[in-house]
Amino acid sequence: PLVLGVESSCDDTAAAVLRGRSILSSVVEGQSDLHAPYGGVVPEIAARAHAEKVDLCIEAALAGAGVTLAEIDAIAVTAGPGLIGGVLAGVMTAKALSAATGKPLIGVNHLAGHALTPRLTDDVAFPYLLLLVSGGHCQFLRVDGPDRFVRLGGTIDDAPGEAFDKTARLLALPQPGGPNVERAAASGDAARFVLPRPLLDRAGCDMSFSGLKTALLRARDTVIAGKGGITERDRSDLCAGFQAAVTDILAEKSRRALALCPGVTAFAVAGGVAANRRIRAALEEVAGTLPFVAPPLALCTDNAAMIAYAGAERLKLGQTDGLELPARPRWPLDDSAPALLGSGR
Ligand code: ATP
Ligand code: FE
Repeated sequence: PLVLGVESSCDDTAAAVLRGRSILSSVVEGQSDLHAPYGGVVPEIAARAHAEKVDLCIEAALAGAGVTLAEIDAIAVTAGPGLIGGVLAGVMTAKALSAATGKPLIGVNHLAGHALTPRLTDDVAFPYLLLLVSGGHCQFLRVDGPDRFVRLGGTIDDAPGEAFDKTARLLALPQPGGPNVERAAASGDAARFVLPRPLLDRAGCDMSFSGLKTALLRARDTVIAGKGGITERDRSDLCAGFQAAVTDILAEKSRRALALCPGVTAFAVAGGVAANRRIRAALEEVAGTLPFVAPPLALCTDNAAMIAYAGAERLKLGQTDGLELPARPRWPLDDSAPALLGSGR
């Protein structure tokens, strides 16, 4: 089927058209310029930008795919979790298109979009283990079906991408922090600053990353106090120490998550942090003989192709939504959590 996907839950407005697993078009309009002066995403600014851009993104996606709205079989839209103003902008637009054309509407959980992406890019059968590791999320999910997820654990505080970005800020490296910290770390000595690996001795696969930035700040200040400044060399060593700690935490907890779900067909990763080569290599090693699946970066970060694909999987199960589809700021994926009253994303 030909599915239009719409995404507006964070700071990217996106639309895409898929025919089966083939991505005919994928448009992503970022907002980082708008939020840069404030040092973080401002919900009101995001909502207004989504409302302004979503129609244009959809038009561009249809034109890019060379199809008209009349040819589309279904409209999939992110219905949460996320910044509610942005989610609403996408949901209301999708509802209007559905009402005007009579095409079925499919509400998609943004996290389900990320979690199903390995099936869009590779032949991965259920169940598989997914590590979603991005700027806003870090969790292990066993993906049992298009609408069946079991959360095995995750961060109890910051997401690793956030920690990479803060590390860059502390060391006066440009944003986004991830790629710049990785570049600096490449020539660094990871053994010079050994940062803590919290919760590593604790059972289960919960993780903590917030203590890392405090430790990094202290290590940096000790260097500065010692010689009145910080050299390129110090910066590289600090980045290498930080990256090694994050890598160790993710690798060890992945090992535990895999032990918790025997019988999975693959170990997959998604999210911007999965772009990190060191982390990728460590996770691939943990996978051992199990297939390791890491989608290309453009599909790991926020996009609408994953929403269209998740919508297509729901359509195949005959699951569509009516015009009463709610937009949800919180919407945990886990089966065992109530869909509407969940306690977090
Ligand atoms: P979410 O999608 O969870 O709402 P987000 O949009 O911030 O959050 P992504 O777009 O998936 O997340 O990823 C962006 C994050 O990935 C940033 O924090 C960035 O620093 C990090 N990142 C990108 N490349 C790398 C890299 N090479 N190494 C480490 N981190 C990276
Ligand atoms: Fe996301």
